[in-house]
Amino acid sequence: MQTLTQAQTPRTPTQENRGQENDLSLRVRALDPTLDLEAEITRLKREMNAVILAHYYQDADIQDLADHVGDSLALAQAAAATDADVIVFCGVHFMAETAKILSPNKLVLLPDLDAGCSLADRCPADEYGEWLKQYPGHTVINYINSSAAVKALSDIIVTSSNAAAIVAQLPPETPIVFGPDRHLGRWVEKQTGREMVLWPGFCIVHEQFSARKLAGLRAQYPQASLIAHPECEEAVLDQADFIGSTLALLKYVGTHPEQTQFIVATEVGILHQMRQSRPDAEFLCSPPNSGCDCASCPYMRLNTLEKLYLAMRDRRPEITVDESTRVRALKPVQRMLDMSKGLSQVQQKGD
Ligand code: SF4
Repeated sequence: MQTLTQAQTPRTPTQENRGQENDLSLRVRALDPTLDLEAEITRLKREMNAVILAHYYQDADIQDLADHVGDSLALAQAAAATDADVIVFCGVHFMAETAKILSPNKLVLLPDLDAGCSLADRCPADEYGEWLKQYPGHTVINYINSSAAVKALSDIIVTSSNAAAIVAQLPPETPIVFGPDRHLGRWVEKQTGREMVLWPGFCIVHEQFSARKLAGLRAQYPQASLIAHPECEEAVLDQADFIGSTLALLKYVGTHPEQTQFIVATEVGILHQMRQSRPDAEFLCSPPNSGCDCASCPYMRLNTLEKLYLAMRDRRPEITVDESTRVRALKPVQRMLDMSKGLSQVQQKGD
Protein backbone atom coordinates (compact mmCIF):
# COMPACT_ATOMS: atom_id res chain seq x y z
CA MET A 1 0.00 0.00 0.00
CA GLN A 2 1.29 3.46 -0.81
CA THR A 3 0.12 6.38 1.29
CA LEU A 4 0.65 10.12 1.23
CA THR A 5 0.87 12.90 3.73
CA GLN A 6 -2.35 14.45 5.02
CA ALA A 7 -4.74 15.90 2.46
CA GLN A 8 -4.87 19.58 1.80
CA THR A 9 -6.88 22.18 3.64
CA PRO A 10 -10.54 21.18 3.60
CA ARG A 11 -12.79 23.17 1.37
CA THR A 12 -16.39 22.68 0.59
CA PRO A 13 -17.69 21.90 -2.88
CA THR A 14 -20.88 23.71 -2.10
CA GLN A 15 -19.32 27.10 -1.44
CA GLU A 16 -20.17 28.46 -4.86
CA ASN A 17 -23.83 27.74 -4.22
CA ARG A 18 -24.08 29.17 -0.75
CA GLY A 19 -24.91 32.73 -1.76
CA GLN A 20 -28.34 31.71 -2.99
CA GLU A 21 -29.14 30.05 0.35
CA ASN A 22 -28.21 32.73 2.87
CA ASP A 23 -31.91 33.25 3.46
CA LEU A 24 -32.58 29.62 4.44
CA SER A 25 -32.55 30.18 8.18
CA LEU A 26 -34.86 33.19 7.72
CA ARG A 27 -37.29 31.10 5.71
CA VAL A 28 -37.22 28.37 8.37
CA ARG A 29 -37.95 30.90 11.10
CA ALA A 30 -40.82 32.40 9.09
CA LEU A 31 -42.62 29.06 8.89
CA ASP A 32 -45.98 28.73 10.58
CA PRO A 33 -45.21 26.45 13.58
CA THR A 34 -48.68 24.88 13.38
CA LEU A 35 -48.13 23.66 9.81
CA ASP A 36 -48.55 19.90 9.40
CA LEU A 37 -45.22 19.37 7.64
CA GLU A 38 -45.74 15.68 6.90
CA ALA A 39 -49.10 16.37 5.23
CA GLU A 40 -47.72 19.34 3.28
CA ILE A 41 -44.70 17.37 2.03
CA THR A 42 -46.97 14.53 0.95
CA ARG A 43 -49.25 16.98 -0.88
CA LEU A 44 -46.34 18.72 -2.61
CA LYS A 45 -44.84 15.40 -3.61
CA ARG A 46 -48.04 14.49 -5.43
CA GLU A 47 -48.46 17.91 -7.05
CA MET A 48 -44.83 18.09 -8.23
CA ASN A 49 -44.58 14.44 -9.28
CA ALA A 50 -41.57 14.24 -7.00
CA VAL A 51 -39.70 11.33 -5.47
CA ILE A 52 -38.02 11.68 -2.08
CA LEU A 53 -34.77 9.73 -1.69
CA ALA A 54 -33.31 9.48 1.82
CA HIS A 55 -30.00 8.10 2.97
CA TYR A 56 -29.88 5.76 5.97
CA TYR A 57 -28.01 8.48 7.90
CA GLN A 58 -30.94 10.92 7.79
CA ASP A 59 -33.10 11.56 10.82
CA ALA A 60 -35.92 9.09 11.39
CA ASP A 61 -38.72 11.55 10.52
CA ILE A 62 -37.20 12.14 7.08
CA GLN A 63 -36.62 8.42 6.46
CA ASP A 64 -40.25 7.74 7.34
CA LEU A 65 -41.50 10.23 4.70
CA ALA A 66 -39.18 9.07 1.91
CA ASP A 67 -40.16 6.93 -1.07
CA HIS A 68 -36.81 5.18 -1.05
CA VAL A 69 -34.38 4.76 1.83
CA GLY A 70 -30.97 3.36 1.03
CA ASP A 71 -27.21 3.64 0.89
CA SER A 72 -25.33 5.56 -1.80
CA LEU A 73 -25.49 2.77 -4.37
CA ALA A 74 -29.17 2.02 -3.88
CA LEU A 75 -30.08 5.70 -4.06
CA ALA A 76 -28.01 6.21 -7.23
CA GLN A 77 -29.88 3.25 -8.74
CA ALA A 78 -33.20 4.75 -7.64
CA ALA A 79 -32.26 8.15 -9.12
CA ALA A 80 -31.35 6.50 -12.42
CA ALA A 81 -34.61 4.56 -12.56
CA THR A 82 -37.21 7.10 -11.44
CA ASP A 83 -39.74 8.61 -13.83
CA ALA A 84 -40.57 11.43 -11.41
CA ASP A 85 -40.08 15.02 -12.62
CA VAL A 86 -38.39 16.12 -9.39
CA ILE A 87 -35.85 14.32 -7.20
CA VAL A 88 -35.71 15.60 -3.63
CA PHE A 89 -32.47 14.22 -2.21
CA CYS A 90 -32.30 13.95 1.55
CA GLY A 91 -28.63 13.21 1.93
CA VAL A 92 -25.49 15.19 1.22
CA HIS A 93 -24.32 17.25 -1.73
CA PHE A 94 -22.34 14.61 -3.63
CA MET A 95 -25.35 12.26 -3.54
CA ALA A 96 -27.68 14.88 -5.02
CA GLU A 97 -25.00 15.70 -7.60
CA THR A 98 -24.86 12.03 -8.59
CA ALA A 99 -28.63 12.10 -9.08
CA LYS A 100 -28.24 15.15 -11.34
CA ILE A 101 -25.44 13.45 -13.30
CA LEU A 102 -27.78 10.53 -13.94
CA SER A 103 -30.93 12.58 -14.51
CA PRO A 104 -29.93 15.90 -16.12
CA ASN A 105 -33.45 16.80 -17.20
CA LYS A 106 -34.96 16.45 -13.75
CA LEU A 107 -35.09 19.13 -11.09
CA VAL A 108 -32.86 17.88 -8.24
CA LEU A 109 -33.33 19.52 -4.85
CA LEU A 110 -31.22 19.25 -1.67
CA PRO A 111 -32.87 20.67 1.48
CA ASP A 112 -29.65 22.35 2.68
CA LEU A 113 -26.76 23.11 0.31
CA ASP A 114 -24.35 23.14 3.24
CA ALA A 115 -24.85 19.40 3.63
CA GLY A 116 -21.39 18.51 2.34
CA CYS A 117 -19.05 15.64 3.24
CA SER A 118 -15.57 15.65 4.76
CA LEU A 119 -14.36 13.10 2.23
CA ALA A 120 -15.50 15.12 -0.76
CA ASP A 121 -14.34 18.40 0.81
CA ARG A 122 -10.80 17.09 1.36
CA CYS A 123 -10.42 15.97 -2.23
CA PRO A 124 -10.61 19.10 -4.39
CA ALA A 125 -10.56 18.34 -8.12
CA ASP A 126 -7.64 20.62 -9.01
CA GLU A 127 -5.34 19.06 -6.39
CA TYR A 128 -6.57 15.56 -7.15
CA GLY A 129 -5.92 16.08 -10.87
CA GLU A 130 -2.35 17.25 -10.15
CA TRP A 131 -1.75 14.27 -7.87
CA LEU A 132 -3.04 11.83 -10.50
CA LYS A 133 -0.34 13.01 -12.92
CA GLN A 134 2.15 11.01 -10.83
CA TYR A 135 0.34 7.79 -11.79
CA PRO A 136 0.00 7.61 -15.58
CA GLY A 137 -1.50 4.39 -16.86
CA HIS A 138 -3.34 3.70 -13.60
CA THR A 139 -7.05 2.96 -13.50
CA VAL A 140 -8.61 5.67 -11.34
CA ILE A 141 -11.27 4.33 -8.99
CA ASN A 142 -13.14 6.80 -6.88
CA TYR A 143 -15.54 6.38 -4.04
CA ILE A 144 -18.93 7.94 -4.77
CA ASN A 145 -18.23 10.33 -1.86
CA SER A 146 -16.56 12.82 -4.19
CA SER A 147 -17.56 15.90 -6.16
CA ALA A 148 -18.81 15.75 -9.76
CA ALA A 149 -15.49 17.32 -10.85
CA VAL A 150 -13.52 14.50 -9.16
CA LYS A 151 -15.87 11.90 -10.63
CA ALA A 152 -15.09 13.41 -14.03
CA LEU A 153 -11.41 12.53 -13.46
CA SER A 154 -12.26 8.88 -12.72
CA ASP A 155 -12.49 5.66 -14.69
CA ILE A 156 -14.91 3.91 -12.33
CA ILE A 157 -16.96 5.09 -9.35
CA VAL A 158 -17.59 2.69 -6.47
CA THR A 159 -19.54 2.65 -3.23
CA SER A 160 -18.73 0.72 -0.07
CA SER A 161 -21.33 -1.86 -1.26
CA ASN A 162 -19.51 -2.70 -4.46
CA ALA A 163 -15.89 -1.46 -4.17
CA ALA A 164 -14.26 -4.83 -3.52
CA ALA A 165 -16.42 -6.62 -6.13
CA ILE A 166 -15.58 -4.03 -8.79
CA VAL A 167 -11.83 -3.99 -8.05
CA ALA A 168 -11.87 -7.79 -8.20
CA GLN A 169 -13.30 -7.61 -11.74
CA LEU A 170 -10.24 -5.73 -13.06
CA PRO A 171 -7.36 -7.72 -14.61
CA PRO A 172 -4.74 -8.48 -11.91
CA GLU A 173 -2.00 -6.55 -13.69
CA THR A 174 -4.02 -3.30 -13.76
CA PRO A 175 -2.38 -0.62 -11.56
CA ILE A 176 -5.02 1.21 -9.53
CA VAL A 177 -5.35 4.60 -7.85
CA PHE A 178 -8.11 4.71 -5.23
CA GLY A 179 -9.63 7.81 -3.65
CA PRO A 180 -10.66 9.56 -1.58
CA ASP A 181 -11.11 7.30 1.50
CA ARG A 182 -7.90 5.66 2.72
CA HIS A 183 -9.65 3.31 5.16
CA LEU A 184 -12.07 1.97 2.57
CA GLY A 185 -9.12 1.65 0.17
CA ARG A 186 -7.10 -0.34 2.70
CA TRP A 187 -10.08 -2.62 3.37
CA VAL A 188 -10.56 -3.21 -0.37
CA GLU A 189 -6.86 -4.08 -0.62
CA LYS A 190 -7.34 -6.71 2.08
CA GLN A 191 -10.49 -8.09 0.46
CA THR A 192 -9.00 -8.37 -3.00
CA GLY A 193 -5.28 -8.85 -2.35
CA ARG A 194 -4.64 -5.90 -4.70
CA GLU A 195 -2.19 -3.12 -3.88
CA MET A 196 -3.49 0.34 -4.75
CA VAL A 197 -2.25 3.90 -4.49
CA LEU A 198 -4.46 5.60 -1.88
CA TRP A 199 -5.46 9.25 -1.60
CA PRO A 200 -5.26 10.03 2.15
CA GLY A 201 -8.84 11.18 2.76
CA PHE A 202 -11.10 10.11 5.60
CA CYS A 203 -14.60 10.54 6.98
CA ILE A 204 -14.66 12.64 10.15
CA VAL A 205 -17.53 10.53 11.49
CA HIS A 206 -16.09 7.05 10.95
CA GLU A 207 -12.54 7.98 11.89
CA GLN A 208 -13.54 9.16 15.34
CA PHE A 209 -14.39 5.74 16.80
CA SER A 210 -12.06 4.92 19.67
CA ALA A 211 -10.50 1.44 19.39
CA ARG A 212 -9.60 1.58 23.08
CA LYS A 213 -13.12 2.48 24.27
CA LEU A 214 -14.53 -0.08 21.87
CA ALA A 215 -12.39 -2.84 23.39
CA GLY A 216 -13.78 -1.83 26.80
CA LEU A 217 -17.37 -2.00 25.52
CA ARG A 218 -16.72 -5.41 23.99
CA ALA A 219 -15.46 -6.68 27.34
CA GLN A 220 -18.63 -5.33 28.97
CA TYR A 221 -20.90 -6.97 26.37
CA PRO A 222 -19.06 -10.17 25.37
CA GLN A 223 -22.14 -11.61 23.61
CA ALA A 224 -22.60 -8.59 21.35
CA SER A 225 -21.69 -8.75 17.69
CA LEU A 226 -19.52 -5.85 16.50
CA ILE A 227 -20.48 -4.70 13.01
CA ALA A 228 -18.48 -1.94 11.35
CA HIS A 229 -18.38 0.19 8.20
CA PRO A 230 -15.14 -0.03 6.17
CA GLU A 231 -14.60 3.74 6.49
CA CYS A 232 -13.53 3.04 10.12
CA GLU A 233 -9.87 2.92 11.12
CA GLU A 234 -8.02 -0.39 10.89
CA ALA A 235 -7.78 -0.71 14.70
CA VAL A 236 -11.60 -0.69 14.84
CA LEU A 237 -12.08 -2.98 11.85
CA ASP A 238 -9.62 -5.49 13.35
CA GLN A 239 -12.05 -6.00 16.25
CA ALA A 240 -15.17 -6.40 14.07
CA ASP A 241 -17.17 -9.59 13.62
CA PHE A 242 -18.59 -8.25 10.37
CA ILE A 243 -17.52 -5.40 8.07
CA GLY A 244 -19.77 -4.05 5.34
CA SER A 245 -21.55 -1.12 3.74
CA THR A 246 -24.47 0.47 5.54
CA LEU A 247 -26.86 -1.77 3.62
CA ALA A 248 -24.75 -4.86 4.36
CA LEU A 249 -24.77 -4.01 8.08
CA LEU A 250 -28.55 -3.67 8.00
CA LYS A 251 -28.90 -6.99 6.21
CA TYR A 252 -26.54 -8.66 8.69
CA VAL A 253 -28.74 -7.55 11.59
CA GLY A 254 -31.85 -8.88 9.82
CA THR A 255 -30.33 -12.26 8.99
CA HIS A 256 -28.78 -13.09 12.37
CA PRO A 257 -31.79 -13.67 14.65
CA GLU A 258 -29.60 -15.64 17.07
CA GLN A 259 -27.79 -12.39 17.91
CA THR A 260 -29.69 -10.05 20.22
CA GLN A 261 -26.98 -7.47 20.92
CA PHE A 262 -25.08 -5.48 18.32
CA ILE A 263 -22.34 -2.88 18.68
CA VAL A 264 -22.63 -0.65 15.61
CA ALA A 265 -19.61 1.26 14.27
CA THR A 266 -21.16 3.62 11.77
CA GLU A 267 -23.35 6.73 11.68
CA VAL A 268 -26.16 6.68 14.25
CA GLY A 269 -28.98 7.29 11.69
CA ILE A 270 -28.87 3.64 10.60
CA LEU A 271 -30.16 2.56 14.01
CA HIS A 272 -33.68 3.65 12.98
CA GLN A 273 -33.85 0.97 10.26
CA MET A 274 -32.04 -1.59 12.43
CA ARG A 275 -34.55 -1.16 15.25
CA GLN A 276 -37.44 -1.51 12.81
CA SER A 277 -35.89 -4.67 11.42
CA ARG A 278 -35.04 -6.17 14.81
CA PRO A 279 -37.28 -4.74 17.56
CA ASP A 280 -36.16 -7.60 19.80
CA ALA A 281 -32.46 -6.67 19.63
CA GLU A 282 -30.36 -4.18 21.58
CA PHE A 283 -28.14 -1.78 19.65
CA LEU A 284 -25.12 -0.10 21.19
CA CYS A 285 -23.15 2.66 19.51
CA SER A 286 -19.43 2.15 19.09
CA PRO A 287 -17.99 4.90 21.31
CA PRO A 288 -16.45 7.91 19.54
CA ASN A 289 -13.40 9.78 20.86
CA SER A 290 -15.61 12.79 21.55
CA GLY A 291 -17.77 13.00 24.65
CA CYS A 292 -20.86 12.00 22.63
CA ASP A 293 -22.60 8.64 22.96
CA CYS A 294 -22.96 8.00 19.24
CA ALA A 295 -21.30 9.12 16.02
CA SER A 296 -23.46 11.60 14.17
CA CYS A 297 -22.68 13.18 10.79
CA PRO A 298 -23.00 16.97 11.15
CA TYR A 299 -23.65 17.34 7.42
CA MET A 300 -26.51 14.82 7.33
CA ARG A 301 -28.10 16.48 10.36
CA LEU A 302 -28.43 19.79 8.46
CA ASN A 303 -31.43 18.42 6.58
CA THR A 304 -34.63 18.80 8.57
CA LEU A 305 -38.34 18.35 7.88
CA GLU A 306 -38.70 22.13 7.74
CA LYS A 307 -35.98 22.48 5.11
CA LEU A 308 -37.36 19.52 3.17
CA TYR A 309 -40.75 21.23 3.05
CA LEU A 310 -39.22 24.57 2.01
CA ALA A 311 -37.13 22.96 -0.73
CA MET A 312 -40.30 21.49 -2.24
CA ARG A 313 -42.46 24.56 -1.73
CA ASP A 314 -39.89 26.96 -3.22
CA ARG A 315 -38.26 24.49 -5.65
CA ARG A 316 -34.80 25.40 -4.36
CA PRO A 317 -31.96 24.96 -3.63
CA GLU A 318 -31.46 23.27 -6.96
CA ILE A 319 -28.42 21.12 -7.69
CA THR A 320 -26.68 21.98 -10.94
CA VAL A 321 -23.67 20.41 -12.69
CA ASP A 322 -22.12 22.02 -15.76
CA GLU A 323 -22.77 19.88 -18.83
CA SER A 324 -19.15 19.19 -19.73
CA THR A 325 -18.38 17.94 -16.20
CA ARG A 326 -21.61 15.97 -16.10
CA VAL A 327 -20.92 14.13 -19.33
CA ARG A 328 -17.40 13.18 -18.16
CA ALA A 329 -18.68 12.15 -14.71
CA LEU A 330 -21.55 10.10 -16.13
CA LYS A 331 -19.23 7.57 -17.79
CA PRO A 332 -17.59 6.25 -14.57
CA VAL A 333 -20.90 6.40 -12.68
CA GLN A 334 -22.63 4.42 -15.43
CA ARG A 335 -19.73 1.96 -15.45
CA MET A 336 -20.30 1.40 -11.73
CA LEU A 337 -24.00 0.79 -12.25
CA ASP A 338 -23.26 -1.67 -15.05
CA MET A 339 -20.59 -3.51 -13.03
CA SER A 340 -22.73 -3.73 -9.90
CA LYS A 341 -25.98 -5.07 -11.34
CA GLY A 342 -27.47 -7.49 -8.83
CA LEU A 343 -25.19 -6.40 -5.99
CA SER A 344 -27.63 -4.10 -4.20
CA GLN A 345 -31.33 -3.47 -3.91
CA VAL A 346 -33.04 -0.29 -2.96
CA GLN A 347 -35.35 -0.56 0.00
CA GLN A 348 -38.81 0.61 -0.91
CA LYS A 349 -41.49 1.44 1.56
CA GLY A 350 -43.67 -1.60 2.09
CA ASP A 351 -40.89 -4.07 1.28
S1 SF4 B 1 -20.86 10.17 7.39
FE1 SF4 B 1 -18.79 10.74 6.65
S2 SF4 B 1 -18.74 10.01 4.53
FE2 SF4 B 1 -20.91 10.09 5.14
S3 SF4 B 1 -21.60 12.14 4.51
FE3 SF4 B 1 -20.94 12.31 6.67
S4 SF4 B 1 -18.80 13.01 6.51
FE4 SF4 B 1 -19.34 12.19 4.48
